[in-house]
Order: sequence, then structure tokens, then C-alpha cells
Amino acid sequence: MPPAVPAPDSSSPDSKVNAFPEGFYQHLFAALTDAVIVFHIPSGRILHANPAASSLTERSLDTLRTLEHQDLYPPEHRNLANLYFREESGSSGNRFNTTRHLDLLGNFGKRIPVEINYLILKESQESLLIGIFRNDSDRRIKEAQLRQRDRLLKAAAESLLKFIGSKDPHKAINDALKSFCEAAACDRAFIFENRAHPTTGTLSMCHIAEWCRPGVKPFIDDPRLQYIPYDGPFEKWAEKLSAGQSISAHVKDLSPQIRAILEPQSIRSILLVPVVVEGKWWGYIGVHQCTNERLWEIYEIATLGVTGSCLCGILNNHRLQESFLDAKVRAEEASRAKSEFLAMISHEIRTPLNAILGFTELLSETQLDSAQVEYCRDITAGGQALLSVINQILDHSRLEITHSVRLEPVPTDLRDNLETTLRLLREKAAERGLTLTSHIEDSIPQKLLLDPERLRQILTNLLFNAIKFTDHGEVRLQVSLVESNGSDVRLSFTVSDTGIGIPLDKQPSIFDAFVQVDTSLTRSYGGIGLGLTIARNLVTLMGGTIGLESTLGKGSSFTFVIPTKVAPDGPPPEPEPAQETKLSGSPLRVIYAEDNQANAAIMNAYFRSLALPLEVVENGVELLGKLKTHSYDVILMDIQMPQMDGFEATRQIRAGLCGEHNTSIYIIGVTAAAHASDRERCLAAGMNDYLSKPLKRAQLFAALSKALGNQQ
Ligand code: ADP
Repeated sequence: MPPAVPAPDSSSPDSKVNAFPEGFYQHLFAALTDAVIVFHIPSGRILHANPAASSLTERSLDTLRTLEHQDLYPPEHRNLANLYFREESGSSGNRFNTTRHLDLLGNFGKRIPVEINYLILKESQESLLIGIFRNDSDRRIKEAQLRQRDRLLKAAAESLLKFIGSKDPHKAINDALKSFCEAAACDRAFIFENRAHPTTGTLSMCHIAEWCRPGVKPFIDDPRLQYIPYDGPFEKWAEKLSAGQSISAHVKDLSPQIRAILEPQSIRSILLVPVVVEGKWWGYIGVHQCTNERLWEIYEIATLGVTGSCLCGILNNHRLQESFLDAKVRAEEASRAKSEFLAMISHEIRTPLNAILGFTELLSETQLDSAQVEYCRDITAGGQALLSVINQILDHSRLEITHSVRLEPVPTDLRDNLETTLRLLREKAAERGLTLTSHIEDSIPQKLLLDPERLRQILTNLLFNAIKFTDHGEVRLQVSLVESNGSDVRLSFTVSDTGIGIPLDKQPSIFDAFVQVDTSLTRSYGGIGLGLTIARNLVTLMGGTIGLESTLGKGSSFTFVIPTKVAPDGPPPEPEPAQETKLSGSPLRVIYAEDNQANAAIMNAYFRSLALPLEVVENGVELLGKLKTHSYDVILMDIQMPQMDGFEATRQIRAGLCGEHNTSIYIIGVTAAAHASDRERCLAAGMNDYLSKPLKRAQLFAALSKALGNQQ
């Protein structure tokens, strides 16, 4: 019997109304759906239990009454159960304390998860502990599922993180499949990608990645799993997956055709989840259960779906990036091939041009009649025009294809620089009956930090055009100070003419490569359409801008503005003695390695004019032989030679293969390749200086004077 509950106070006016019928508590106790067990304190003996307790514990009421508190629990929970019993028995009030979670020991050793609330009932003599037990299985299952979901999400997040940082996407995908498979206790995980069948074009699935638990057979290399069309037995799959639904099934319940494919892979249950990349159905990720049948929980399906979409999204990006890198490598190769081609063409054209211009120059210094002088002038003009075309193409390639032009700003006397440029063009202007005038504002500082050669090139291109496209009138160069802030200066250069002008519709594209107003066969002006492109690229390289104003039939004016700096004052340069005077009759012993006989003959003629001896050898091997037995001060080294090129010969000389005394011999590279990096390559190979063909006599003499200065 349950203990007597304190009787209602009979003195109260409501006591009659509140009195419970006899046997009320017994009925209530028996009818409760929660299991209630009453324990004796301190022995823990079970005094009473209701039918719900009998069914929860899977023991009869009679059996229960023979047990003690601790007998209800399996051995692994007994200590904890005793501790709870002691704690609850010692508590003071008639109220529920904390909820406890333990397993009861059911039939055949079965564990029954329960939550327990205890209530202390104190009688005058003795105290009782009432335990209210509720089956806790559902909550425990949910908890376990939550833990499992967390494990899966953690595995997915970790593998995705690894994937993002990975350089090998296929390995990263396999690692991710492994993590998922292990966390979800599956036997095989895989990805199929949708692709059009190469011959029929029908939508098909391709097995692209797989991970198998050890002992489970892999199928990644099975060609039958490539390009399986979705029409036919897999049509239903396509319908569901494309609609965003997953497929979870036991293989035995699938159609015979699908079973014929899956059963040889020892699959008993499958889960397929659609993968969506950038809003499109991309394929599916799936898992197999081979050892047992299984259906997957919603959270497993959801996690697999999210993992698949992230993995395949990243894979897609990787692929785009890989093809991007391929395209970059191809572009770089193409650019290298172009610049090598240009260097080769340049070599092939410059070498004979060197001979043509050199011999014409020598010829014009001999006794000629007036017609012959005229011929010489024409040959030189033709050669120089050809050289200018080659130079323009090379410059364009360096500026736009290989981006290898580097500015070399040095303190420059702007007025001197402009005068040199104008001097060369004045003659051209006069030939066309034009006047070439210039005005440089007085406020412009004398010395500025500029690349004088590149500035000259821009101005020459603009002035040359102005002269070329003007039949009457004037060409003018105006240089103004736009802004001056401390040592920072901005200058504007305007080249204007009274020429044919440029139509409005052509003006926006006139700076683009190869754009010309007149492209007809009857055009009266030469040129290849690169002058303005080169000018614009050089101005941009200098950090400036260029534009034009032009009116058809009235004239054009091109203006560019560049930032520059005032150069710090330095000592005035020493007046250079004329190179030829310095060299003539000097003790300089020079050897020239050159396989081209015409070039060698020109060089010989130049040296004769200086009364200097010159020894010529045909390649690097011969040169090394000579150096071992003879002494020289300077080597003029052609770069491209049979047997041993100039770079290799230089390296060997510097390495001491021709004796210690030659390791520091002065070497001047002479090349017709005009490769973008020729100068750097010559210096890197150990040369002291560099000359490009066609050789200009003045440049050669300047280089030799420098070498002579080096000896003294
Ligand atoms: P090219 O002069 O070799 O054709 P450019 O790039 O220097 O190449 O010039 C491109 C085109 O721009 C010229 O062919 C010509 O049609 C036009 N152009 C350039 N400068 C002038 C100018 N001062 N007056 C008229 N037309 C010009």
C-alpha cells in the first residue's frame, strides 16, 4: 500500500467537499501511465510499484517487490544509481529534484533508457523515496542522431576546407568521400557527373570519383560506368534527381535492368543525392551499403547533398581555373614564340641590311660621279626605311606582346634633346616645302629626369606623321609647363600641322595598331600604321596621356602630357673628345668573332678608317683558340655563330678557359637579333657592352672609346 497521504483538514469548511472517495489513491496510482516505484530509505527495498512500472522494467509486480533500487539497473549503471539514491534520500523537501538519466535492465540483458524524477516523502517515523520513470528512448535516439549529424557535418566541413586549399582536386575529392563514408558508416561513396554522350549527345552519367571501405571492391576504373545514358532503365532516376529529389532504395526493390548493373558491385542499398552547381543539375553524389540493407536518415541525405554540391562546385571552379592556367601558359608560349620569331626575322633582315647600309656608307666616301652619289643616297634611304619598319614591328612587339620595354630615365637637357630631334626632321620638312617650328616655354626647367631616347621616339613619330600628311604650311612643336609642384613637373607636348586632317569617325581608333585612314591601293603615303600605337604605349608607360584634335582638310594636333621630375644639379659634363681622334692610332688590339663575311668586311673598313688593326675569326671555338695564343684588349662578339655562340664563348672566357689574364678582357656583344632582352642577356653572360646591328659607325666608335678608357 502507498503510504497515507496527510488527511485533509476536517476543521476546514470545505473539508467535506474536498474529501476523496476511499481507494482514490490506489486507483490513481494504478492508472498512472508513468512508471512509479516506491523505495524504502535507507535500504532501497522496493515497497510498491504500479503496473506501468511493471511493463517498463519488463518484470512482474511481484518480482519488483523482491528487488532493491540498485537491482533495477545494469552493472555499469549501478554505482551511479546508488549515488543518485543516496543523494535523493538525503535531500530535504517533498519536491522533485533534478532529472536523472540511466538505463534500466530489461529482459535478456536489454537496456531501457529512462529519465527519473525522485520525490521524497517524509512520514513521522520513516521516509520513502518515490521514483517516477519515463522511457527515454526517443530522446536518446534524437540525441544520437544529432551527434551523428554533427559528426557528418564536421567531416564534410573539414574535407571541404581541405579541398579549397588543395592543389590536387581529385585527391581532395577522394579524401572528402572517405571522410563522409567513415562518418556515415557507409561502404562506398562516389560521384557521377552529367555529360553529353560523345556520339549520341544524350545526357549520360560518368563515374568520376569513388572511395571504398577496405575490402569493398572499387569500380572507378570500370569503363561500363562511363557515359551510362539516363534514358532507358535510368529514366526515373533522371526524373527524380533533376527535380532535386534523392533516391534511397534497397537494390532488391529496383528494376531487373538496374539490379543487373548494381548487384555485381555487391550493393544492397543505395542513396543518391542530386548535385546542383550554379543552379543547374550537375550529377549526383551517392553512397552504397554492401554489407547490410539500410535506409538513410534525412540529415544524412541533406549532409551528403550539401557536401556533393560544394565539392562539385569547387571542382568546377578548379577546372575553370586549370583551363585558365592552360590558356595562360599557352598565351605565354605564344608570346615567347612570337618574340623569338621576331628576333629571328630581325636577325635575318638586319644582317644583310647592315651590309647594305655599311657598304653604301663606305662607297659614298669614295670618288663618285653625281649620279652614283644619288644612287648611294637612294640605297641608304631605302635601307633606312626598311630598318624603320623592322624597328617599329619590334618595338610594337616589345610594348604590346612581350611587355619588355623598360624606361631608363636619366637627367636630360630637354632643350638639347628636342633640338637633336628637330634637326633630323627639319631636313625632311624642308624637302616637302614645310616649315618646322618649335616653342619651349621658358618656365620649363633645364634638366629633367626623362628617358631621352623614348621621348625622342614619341616626338619623331608624331612629327614625322605631321610632315608626311601635310602638303602646305607648317608643322609646329609646342612644349608647355602644365603643372609644377616642388620637383614634380608635368609637361605637355603638342605637335600640330596644317595637313590633311583625320576624319571624325576614324579618330577614336587612330591609336590602335595598324589603323590607317587611307588603306587603298592608291594611297599616297607610306607607313604600316604602328607609329601612333607605339607613341601611345610609350606615353602610357611614362604615366602620361595622349589625345588629338583634328579637322579634315585643315590639320591635326596631337598632344601628350607626361609627368616628370626636375633633375638634381650635377657638375657639367666634361666635353668629350671626338671619338675618332681618341681611337685613331691608339694601341687597342681588337678581335672580332663574326661568321658573316659582309659584316666582317664592313668592320674591317671601319677599322681601316681609324688606322686600327682588326683580327677576324668565324666562331666562338676559333676565338677561344686565338685567345690562348695571342693577346687582345677588346673582343667584338657576334652572338649568333656556328659551333659556339657568343654567350657560350663569353662564359668560357670568363671561367678562365683562355687563361687567367683573359677572364677580365673587355667584351662588346654585337647582335642583329635585337631581342627584347638582348642587352640583359649579353651583360648576364659576362659582356661589358652591347651593340645592335646595323652598326652605326658613331656608336661603334663610342663603344670602342669606352673600352679604351677602360684600359687606361
Ligand atoms: P603610319 O603613319 O605608319 O600609317 P601611324 O600609326 O603613325 O602609322 O598613323 C596611323 C594613321 O593615322 C596614318 O596612316 C594616318 O592615316 C593617320 N595620321 C597620323 N598622323 C596624322 C596626321 N598628322 N595627319 C593626318 N593623318 C594622320
